[in-house]
Order: sequence, then structure tokens, then C-alpha cells
Amino acid sequence: MNTQQDLVQRDLKYIWHPCSQMKDYEELQPIVIASGKGVYLYDKNGKEYLDIVSSWWCNLLGHCNPIISESIKHQLDRLEHVIFANFTHEPAITLCEQLMGIIPKGLAKFNFSDNGSASVECALKMAFQYQYQTGHPKKTKFMCLSDGYHGETIGALSVGCLDLYAKIYQPMLMSTIHVQAPDCYRCPYGKCRECCQAECIEFAKTAFEQNAEETCAMIVEPLLQGSAGMRIYPPIYLKKLRALCDQYTVLLIADEIATGFGRTGKMFAFEHAGVSPDIMCISKGLTGGYMPMAITITTDEVYDAFYADYSEGKAFMHSHTYSGNPLGCSAALAVQKIFREEPILENAAKRAIYLNQKLQEALIEHKNVGEIRHIGLINAIELTPDRRAKSEYPSELRIGYQIYKKALARGLLLRPLGNVLYFNPPLIINELEIDKAIRICKESILEVLGDL
Ligand SMILES: *Cc1c(COP(=O)(O)O)cnc(C)c1O
Repeated sequence: MNTQQDLVQRDLKYIWHPCSQMKDYEELQPIVIASGKGVYLYDKNGKEYLDIVSSWWCNLLGHCNPIISESIKHQLDRLEHVIFANFTHEPAITLCEQLMGIIPKGLAKFNFSDNGSASVECALKMAFQYQYQTGHPKKTKFMCLSDGYHGETIGALSVGCLDLYAKIYQPMLMSTIHVQAPDCYRCPYGKCRECCQAECIEFAKTAFEQNAEETCAMIVEPLLQGSAGMRIYPPIYLKKLRALCDQYTVLLIADEIATGFGRTGKMFAFEHAGVSPDIMCISKGLTGGYMPMAITITTDEVYDAFYADYSEGKAFMHSHTYSGNPLGCSAALAVQKIFREEPILENAAKRAIYLNQKLQEALIEHKNVGEIRHIGLINAIELTPDRRAKSEYPSELRIGYQIYKKALARGLLLRPLGNVLYFNPPLIINELEIDKAIRICKESILEVLGDL
């Protein structure tokens, strides 16, 4: 039997789903998705779900995009995979050439892996070894922002600061230097977004003064701390951070895994700041969400510190079996083709204005909406029991999760981050789809939290 109910029973017998309390599934069973098209997913019974979270932020241009599908199929009949040490292939080479045209200036060397966390691990090891091989063996620690998120493996978790994911593992993690992140909703300097000069860079300044000698790199999610609840901070902060890193010989690692490929309105978030990182991690949107692939990109300067006679032992001895997987590259090439041939960013920019206006109209007056912040098409609704005090709902209430369940019943995939609801749709979403998502989101909020 292959009915929805039968598949659910078979699923629960064996599958341990990611980031889930499996006991929750007794009440809210997994939804068996049979197909997808554009911004929609369809379950076994034909019910449609509007995928407003881009299936964990990776689906960039819609489900079952024919151009991406075709590109993967074409590659599949030629070469599915080949060892990437000493071997290469055209899709990887062409992809790097094309990415060179869109990435921040100065980045020039590409190290492939197969998921975001792996690309972060690669960045950390690269930075550490770079400092070691350029005469700074004491620079062994990493600096990161509070409430940051960089993935789930041990290194990535060590530079992440969200208790929800990291707290229990503290004894396993390396010690890192935490810098208090910008918090524009609850700005400690009482600044508004318009008058902000990133005064909170002071926290970073102090950390650099005290720890730079032992710090090899600083890692940040540029402009958008995604998992922290889509917290947004201004480009000037990155500019000032770049200056600090230069002053103290600390490498700057940009985790653009969530922000890359147009999510913030520009191709990469760092572009807003007009500066470049020394190392950049990309994944998620890279393949449009079709194949698991990631790349850690760095400068010639970093690369050159590893380039020497074999006997000097300076090589970067880091690898993953699926490095440079041709199917992943073929999906990424198709994404780049679509960016070149269609005005994806221009259209997304128009829709971004529309989405934010309509969402503000629908919800900003609600007594429990503290703020609706936005960058690119990403919009986050901060829920609060008291708008003036900007207080937080106790996590046991699971307000976001209650609303999520109501929205699911109505056909909207609105997976929350704690008490923050967010929209992070595929860039190809249209106005009708936006209207529908906002309507269901509002109905679901009203059902759980009561009237305006
Ligand atoms: C998703 C994400 C990661 C981790 O990527 P995975 O592919 O899930 O390992 C790292 N950093 C950021 C900013 C992310 O959003």
C-alpha cells in the first residue's frame, strides 16, 4: 500500500527526522510529498502546500524547474561522479569561471564539498593553516557573533552560538571568542535603523583588542543571522568588521550559505557593504536546492600560502568523497544560466517591495507583532506578548509551532524559528502567491493569538 497513511506508518517505523522531537510526530504526522512545481508542494492526496520557506532556504527558482532538471539529466548520462583529486571535469571548471563573474572581488580559488557545514569546516581549517603557514602559529582561535549559526558539525557548532543547537554539546566543542552581535530590534544604543552607525561594533573592537593575537579568523553570517530568527543588521557593520580584521591580521570568513544567490536583494550579502571577505562559504541556493553541494572560496593570497614543494608539507590535506560532484555542478550551471537569461533579481526586487508592503498592511497593527523586518524577499515577523516591552514568549508555549500547524492545515509551509515567523520564498514567487501566503499567515496568527 502506498496511501498517505500507510507511508506515514512505514516512515515512522524507521526514519529519524532532522531537527525534530520525534514524539511530536504522534500528533503532527509527517506529510508525504509526492511532487513539486514552482512554489508549490503536493502531498499524496493532492493537497497543495505553498513552500514559503524554500524547503529550508535552498530552493531558489521553484521546484521541478525544467532547465535545472534537464541539465542534471543531461549530465547524468555522461558522468555521475569522479574522484576530484588529480581529476577534473568540464562542469566544475565552467562553474568556477562563471561564479568568478558574480562573487565579491578578490575571491579566486574554489574548494568543493557537499553541504554547508562541511564548507564551514573547510573554511576554519583553511584559515587556521593559513595563519600557521604565514608566521602566526599563535593564531589558533575563532571569533564569532552571538546567536550565530554555521551548521551542525563539531567545528561549525563551535563557532555557532545558539543554545538550542549547541548547548548540550559544549564539552565536545572548541572554545571560541563570542562577540555580541548587532540586535537592531532591541538595539542597546537605542538607535533606529536610519540613524545607526553600527555603534555596536564596539563589542567587536574590544574583543579584537583583547584576543586578536590568538585569533586566526572571524566568521559571520553577513547582514542576516538566519537561524537566530532572521535578524538583520546593516552593511556598515561589515565594513567596520573588515577594517578591524585588516588591522589585526584576522581573516574574515563570510558564511553566505543562507544569504547567497539573491536572497538579500544582491547576489551576495557582502556586496551591500562594498567589501570582500577572505573566505566565503556557499551552498543552499548554489544548486537551486536540487543537489547537495557547497564551495569554500578564497583569495589568491590564502591559496598561495599553501603552494610549495611537496616536501614542505604545506598542502591542504582536506577532502570529501563527493567534492566537485558533476551532477551538483550541472545543477549549479543551470542556476547560473537562468540568472543570465532571466531578470530574476530585478523581478525579485519588485516582489520584495510588494511582499513587505502587503505584509505590513495585514499584520503590523496586530497586538502581538513586535516588528516585521525584511531584506530582499526575506520577511520576518517577530511575535511578542507585549509590543512596548518587546518581551519574549516563553519557549514552552511554542507559539510559532502552534501557528505553523494552523498554517499547514490551510496549505502554507510556514516553519517558524521559535517565536519568529518568516517568509523566505523562492525568488520566482508571484504576487498572487504572495497574497495567498499572507492571507493564510494572517488567518493562522489570528486563530492562535486572537484578533488585531
Ligand atoms: C544552513 C546553513 C548552514 C549549514 O548548511 P548545511 O548544508 O545544513 O550543513 C551553515 N550556515 C548557514 C548560515 C546556514 O543557513
